[in-house]
Amino acid sequence: MNEQTIHKFLSRLADQYGKNHFYIRNFKPLYLAAFAKVPSRLLEIWLDDYFQNNMPQFIPPLTAVKDFIRAKSQCKDEWFLVDRGIFCLNCRTDDDGKTGGFRIIWARFYSPKLKREINKTISARCDCESSKGTGRTWNEVVDEIIGIDPKATIRHDYYDHDRGGQIRATYQSDDMWEYRIKGGYVKIEETPDQNYYIPVWEHDYWTTSMASRTAKTVGWEIPEFVLEKRKKKKAVQNRSKKKYGALSDEAIDAIFTIYDY
Ligand SMILES: [Zn+2]
Repeated sequence: MNEQTIHKFLSRLADQYGKNHFYIRNFKPLYLAAFAKVPSRLLEIWLDDYFQNNMPQFIPPLTAVKDFIRAKSQCKDEWFLVDRGIFCLNCRTDDDGKTGGFRIIWARFYSPKLKREINKTISARCDCESSKGTGRTWNEVVDEIIGIDPKATIRHDYYDHDRGGQIRATYQSDDMWEYRIKGGYVKIEETPDQNYYIPVWEHDYWTTSMASRTAKTVGWEIPEFVLEKRKKKKAVQNRSKKKYGALSDEAIDAIFTIYDY
């Protein structure tokens, strides 16, 4: 049903703006995908309405037609989940943009409440269409920090078009890296072009549960041999716990948190 309706609409557009059948053939699949979930009866009424009352001077792009339909009071957001599912380049965590939605913010600022400078890593909602929802967006969080301390140092995840990749806030945070290098579980690898931070997997830090979080934030994958080592360590801990009622995992991790930020 939608196919007929869309075909009729595109034919009318083609007639009106002097386009040929290539126009219809090229745009039909895009229209079909965009309006696949809109009930046929409503789609027909709305596209007729668009054609009769909203025709612009130049042939409208699909986005304009979509905006028109989405603005209808009877139109439901879930009919458009297809395009809401694609996260922007700044926040996507996979190549296709099917996952993502959050931007990491790193900030160093003076807290009047605590009366000292603090470092914070915050995960906040992205402001792109797909990340719509409740909770503050990353720029609201940034505004809030600036409100607390106008001289705050703030870094956030973003996509760098020149370098063709995401630049992570935590990569930009020098203090954090200095701290990690001092801890001995990260080192700098120098190449003629650039210096890289690389993990020292042999370090005991990587067998703590804190390490999983660090690795995840940075985007490193903990290698199998470290995970094995961690499993063994846990087994030993559990045994000694049974024997002596020794330190809990949490207590041991708390000792290791000095390595983390
Ligand atoms: Zn986004």
